[in-house]
Amino acid sequence: MKVALKLYNSLTRQKEDFTPVVEGRVGLYVCGPTVYSDVHLGNCRTFISFDLIYRYLLYLGYKVRYVRNVTDVGHLEGDVDTHDAEDKISKKARLEQLEPMEIAQKYTNGFHEMMHLFNVLPPSIEPRATGHIPEQIEMVEQIIANGFGYEANGSVYFDVPAFIEKYKNYGQLSGRVVDDLLQETRDLKNQSEKRHPADFAIWMKASDEHIMKWNSPWSVGFPGWHLECSAMSTKYLGERFDIHGGGNDLKFPHHENEIAQNIGACGNTPANYWLHTNMLLLNGKKMSKSDGNNITPVELITGNSPHVSKGYSPMTVRFFTLQSHYSSQLDLTDEALAAAEKGFRRLMEGNKALQSFVGSKDGNKPLDAEIDALINGSFSEMADDFNAPKALAKLFELVTIINKLNDKHLSFDDVSNDCIERLKNCFSDFIFKIFGLSDESTNDGGGVVDGLMQLILDIRSDARTNKDWTTSDKIRNALSSLKIVVKDNKEGSSWVKE
Ligand code: AMP
Ligand code: ZN
Repeated sequence: MKVALKLYNSLTRQKEDFTPVVEGRVGLYVCGPTVYSDVHLGNCRTFISFDLIYRYLLYLGYKVRYVRNVTDVGHLEGDVDTHDAEDKISKKARLEQLEPMEIAQKYTNGFHEMMHLFNVLPPSIEPRATGHIPEQIEMVEQIIANGFGYEANGSVYFDVPAFIEKYKNYGQLSGRVVDDLLQETRDLKNQSEKRHPADFAIWMKASDEHIMKWNSPWSVGFPGWHLECSAMSTKYLGERFDIHGGGNDLKFPHHENEIAQNIGACGNTPANYWLHTNMLLLNGKKMSKSDGNNITPVELITGNSPHVSKGYSPMTVRFFTLQSHYSSQLDLTDEALAAAEKGFRRLMEGNKALQSFVGSKDGNKPLDAEIDALINGSFSEMADDFNAPKALAKLFELVTIINKLNDKHLSFDDVSNDCIERLKNCFSDFIFKIFGLSDESTNDGGGVVDGLMQLILDIRSDARTNKDWTTSDKIRNALSSLKIVVKDNKEGSSWVKE
């Protein structure tokens, strides 16, 4: 590998040298979306951040197996203790009168379109929770056999006090204090079958109305939400792998319980390094659909929102996310997006100007040392816990030099051609390979047009389903004035340019 990579490990709360389990390979697991509604911008921020991390690991030459799951069962809403909880997907299926799998498919498709739009690479494996029920049942059996799970009324619970007695480190990731957890005296409602308030369900018996359910040794039921990630990461990456990621809102209970389940079943902490992305805010406040402090990716791109003065391109949004470290909060504002648009343009124009540069033929030249220091600096920043904003700052210092060379304020006699070549490689490696940006001005880099067209066709199809003829007519007329013909068939809609 070209450089020593350091990363901040949320588990130990310190920056550590990265040493993979198997030299040259990385096993990376990231908690994917729960596919019961449209992906929101906060989700996009997290997946763009892990895309940056994935791309950088690939750039360093690692063979990466990147597993990002799809949660299509088990993520509950409501009071789990009293069985009043309802699966998010089942609930949406009931409300929309569709099969749960139609809901999961619909929002998985939408999620993929968004990822494509923002140039996020697909993972190596994208396992679904419903496709791994036997693996999850097997894990519950192991947990029970090891004395960390018990059955009650057809459901199975993870026995947190029993786990803590043997392994003291429950709470290590999230910073929960074990004594506090154990002393919790919340009254368990009569209906609760849990022995202790801190226990959590790993298998839930389903009520008659519950639609998504499977046979198991304990009941016809469904797995607890945390279990899928334990079972699927073990299946595809092994009992001990390198990096586990997700948004920091997942630290507790999801990741803490995932660790407990893996240790409970196999005796191993699953991942050596835990990376957590921070939240995306809108105008300094948490995004929330209910109070209107929310903007969807489509609204951001089209500009159809009171929160923005105009639409911003997908690459501007991607660039905007790169301007802050993945572990810092990121505040989305119109001003910050406008600044990102300018910054992105400046970077791309600098790169374009650079392409025609020819330096001086012989030897080391006066500017070489400064340019090389900035090039090396940008790579060192990236190796320091994937610090894209600091790497970008170095690239912008290089853009200043590029612009001075272009404007003849600096002379090409003072820079060697070898150094210019290193600069060209640095820019193309960073912009396209590591940052995953594409040039929207010149061509359809990254299939942006395809992504946008798919999005438009989806909005049209939703409008038609909802009998919103104003929107569907508006789209049809706009497309036909652009000489784009839409063909509807059984598989969906496709388009051609006349
Ligand atoms: P979900 O679909 O809710 O399971 O979330 C998918 C991923 O997006 C998880 O890793 C979450 O932690 C992450 N996430 C959710 N909300 C935000 C937010 N506002 N900012 C950044 N990441 C988020
Ligand atoms: Zn997960």
